[in-house]
Formats: sequence, C-alpha cells, structure tokens
Amino acid sequence: MNKQDIQALQQVLATPKKIVLIPHRSPDGDAMGSTLGMYHFLIKNNHFPTVISPNEFPDFLAWMPGSETVLIYEKDKVNCTKILQEAELIFTLDFNALHRVGEMEQVLSTLSVPFVMIDHHQSPDKYASFTYSDVAFGSTCEMVYHFISLLGKKSEIDKTIGTCIYTGILTDSGSFRFPKTTGTTHRIVAELIDLGVENTQIPNLLFDNSTIGSLQLLGRALENMHFLKANKTAYTTLSQAELDQFNYIKGDTEGIVNYGLSIKGIDFSAIFIENKAENFIKISFRSQGDFDVNQFARDYFNGGGHRNAAGGKSELSLQETVQKFETLATKLNL
Ligand code: 5GP
Ligand code: MN
Repeated sequence: MNKQDIQALQQVLATPKKIVLIPHRSPDGDAMGSTLGMYHFLIKNNHFPTVISPNEFPDFLAWMPGSETVLIYEKDKVNCTKILQEAELIFTLDFNALHRVGEMEQVLSTLSVPFVMIDHHQSPDKYASFTYSDVAFGSTCEMVYHFISLLGKKSEIDKTIGTCIYTGILTDSGSFRFPKTTGTTHRIVAELIDLGVENTQIPNLLFDNSTIGSLQLLGRALENMHFLKANKTAYTTLSQAELDQFNYIKGDTEGIVNYGLSIKGIDFSAIFIENKAENFIKISFRSQGDFDVNQFARDYFNGGGHRNAAGGKSELSLQETVQKFETLATKLNL
C-alpha cells in the first residue's frame, strides 16, 4: 500500500463513518480474525462498523470477541442489504474476487462507495479503491497488524484486537509451521502476547473442541483415504450420507485434508466433500514443496488459493469428480 493510499485512507477514517466489513463465504479463522480485528479497531476510532458474513461461520470461532454481533447475509438478506446500501466504506478481508461472497456479490456490485481490500491471495481483482494485497504474508490478520501500523495507530492494538489478529495468524500458519511464517510473524505474536492475548487458551478453543461425531467423521475420512504413491498423492472423500451419519456440523471437516500430508512420501493431498443441498463437491487441496495447488485448482476445479493450500468445486458427482482427479493426478510428476 503506497503512501498516497495511506494518506487518503487516513483522511477517510478521520471522521466517523458507517463501515461494513466482509469476510469470504464460509469464513475461516483468518477471515473472521481480520474482519473482527478491524471491527474493534474501527469502534475504537468512533466509527459505526458492522461485520456481515455471507453465510454462517463455524462454531469453533463463536468465542471470538465481537462474533455475537456478526450478521449473516443468508439469514437476514433484507436487513443486510439495507446496511450495505447505507455504508460509506466497505472492507473486504481475506479474499480478492467478489464471487467469493456468493449471492451477496449481487448487492456489492451495485454499490458505488469505496472498497478497501486487505488480502494475501494471488491475482487480486480490481474492484477496490484501496488494495493492500501481498502474497508474501501468511495471513490477512498479519496484514491487518501492518495496516493499522501504517495508519500510524499501532499503539491502539489492544488485547481484544490482538486476540482476533492472533487467531488468524495461528490458523493460517498451521500453528506457525507453514513456509510464510517469518521472524516478523513471531515478533508480532510476541507483542500480542505481551498485550495479554491468551496464546495458550486460544489454540484450545480452536482445536480441542471435537465431538464424538466429528472424531468419527475424521475416522471415516482416514478409512476412505486412497494413495497414488507413484505420484506422491493421497486423497479422501466424504459423501453426504457419511456427513449425515456422523451429525456433521460446519467446521467438522476443517483440517482433515492435512492428514494426507503427514505421511512420509506424500506431497499432495486432497479431500472431496459432497454437498447435496448446494449440489456440488467442495474440494480442498494441500501440498508441500513446489507443487502449486492454486494453479491446479484454477486449471481443473474452478477454484484457487495459495501455492500450498487451495480449494475448488466440482458439479460432477462425487464418483466422477474423484475419477477426474485420479486421471489428472496420475499424470503428475511430483
Ligand atoms: P480450504 O481448503 O481451507 O477451504 O481453502 C484453502 C485456501 O484456498 C484458502 O486460502 C481459500 O481462500 C482458498 N479457496 C478455497 N476454496 C476456494 C474456491 O472455491 N475458490 C478460490 N478462488 N479459492 C478457494
Ligand atoms: Mn487467509
């Protein structure tokens, strides 16, 4: 973000404004952390912010400060549309293409107020007046820390804002293990801990909340795992019937795709999850090393993401989708 943009934004934010903050559809820890972190920062600066999520956020994020104020567009379209139409400024966080908000895109595309994008995915679209986009960062939350600092307001980051920022840094870095975790990431986290952020409690809240159903669902996904050893690839599936059998709730499949990568000799992992209500297969891809799953998702599964973590969709049946994937994966030379 250049100096001119910062100065322009400082001016915009100098007087109280109605501001809407939007995470991507099916928000994760980084999307919720960045929107809620900015939400608390804007309140502190006398603005009137509202967080509108395109759809429900997972239960394992419901403890986050401010999460109780988040409006869900899918559940409250009339009210959310009104708030969007009255907004004077819109922040979009942790995504860079408007289709990532689903149906809400129809409303956003009619608005003429300035948009601010803060995001770390590749190939940003050009919908925002202010774009802070950088793939070098491991999380949007880390960028929110820098964004607030660039505005000259670093000293306003407190325990509440820090808790939100910490959550996204932790979840998007795979608990500080992924390659974009830098010394700066750790220095920021150290500062946040000094502000009182509960660095040992937050991972418990996020990760230690299995139910019997979610553990059994994980068990089924591990049973269903297939290996293409010659291609260093593992993949698994969960059908709608299996999700139903184990009383699936949103969030229960989070992280399952990573188990494939924990196996020696596997560098590419995928999970295919059937969604009968929306009539598509949701796919997650993970890799370690050079294989670019963002490109793979873009090329073949109408998706995107990052080099080592991406997602996509398929409108074929679960079986046909897996068949397509196997054909592609057996040609890979990892
Ligand atoms: P996940 O597998 O956890 O859903 O997503 C991994 C990464 O890929 C995230 O950074 C997410 O933003 C991105 N991603 C997931 N699904 C899609 C999709 O359908 N389209 C695009 N463009 N990116 C996706
Ligand atoms: Mn992110």
